[in-house]
Amino acid sequence: MLISDNLNQIKSQIPDYVTLVAVSKTKPNNLLMQAYDAGQRHFGENYVQELVDKSQQLPKDICWHFIGHLQSNKVKYIAPFVHLIHGVDSFGLLKEINKQAEKHNRIINCLLQIHIAQEDTKFGFSLLEAKEILRSQNFKDLKSVLIKGFMAMASNTEDSSQIRKEFKSIHDFSKEFSNHSILSYGMSSDYQIAIEEGSNMIRVGSSIFGQR
Ligand SMILES: *Cc1c(COP(=O)(O)O)cnc(C)c1O
Repeated sequence: MLISDNLNQIKSQIPDYVTLVAVSKTKPNNLLMQAYDAGQRHFGENYVQELVDKSQQLPKDICWHFIGHLQSNKVKYIAPFVHLIHGVDSFGLLKEINKQAEKHNRIINCLLQIHIAQEDTKFGFSLLEAKEILRSQNFKDLKSVLIKGFMAMASNTEDSSQIRKEFKSIHDFSKEFSNHSILSYGMSSDYQIAIEEGSNMIRVGSSIFGQR
């Protein structure tokens, strides 16, 4: 299967308002360029060094999404150019992003990662913690970060009703925060359910680039 065929196939199945982030972690630049040449501009990476390298080597009009677990001491490397940081999972990290954004005289768009899965290995805030952060004065004092919405990963299960329930919990929660409009959930295995449950940004890797 050609990458352009995979992209077209996915795009034909999703509504126009859904942003498709092509998750290109571990994939070589020539594969990313095949997607780029097919019109893809949003790419997602999990590893800071890999993201930095690719951003230097590939066209400048790519919007780079950081979707992995971000360590505070690495924020500085991506702060100059990152388009959206999906996995913000602590207030300390948010403060560091704010600091680095100030240094580069820009506002960095972020998503709060919400823990919805049953496994306790996945990072993120509970819905209650997210609500408390968004209402706190400490948060309001951070002028160089903008929380654009929420990101999540569902449980790693075949049980689609469980996945649906988890996605729905974020969608319902997000309605309380109408100015936080990006809902980033859904991967190769569950993006259709995710969109049915309110996602407007899906992060798809293997269905575009093949297995890792
Ligand atoms: C790898 C990854 C994806 C993409 O997963 P696929 O199953 O390959 O589509 C999406 N989101 C995150 C956070 C990832 O780490």
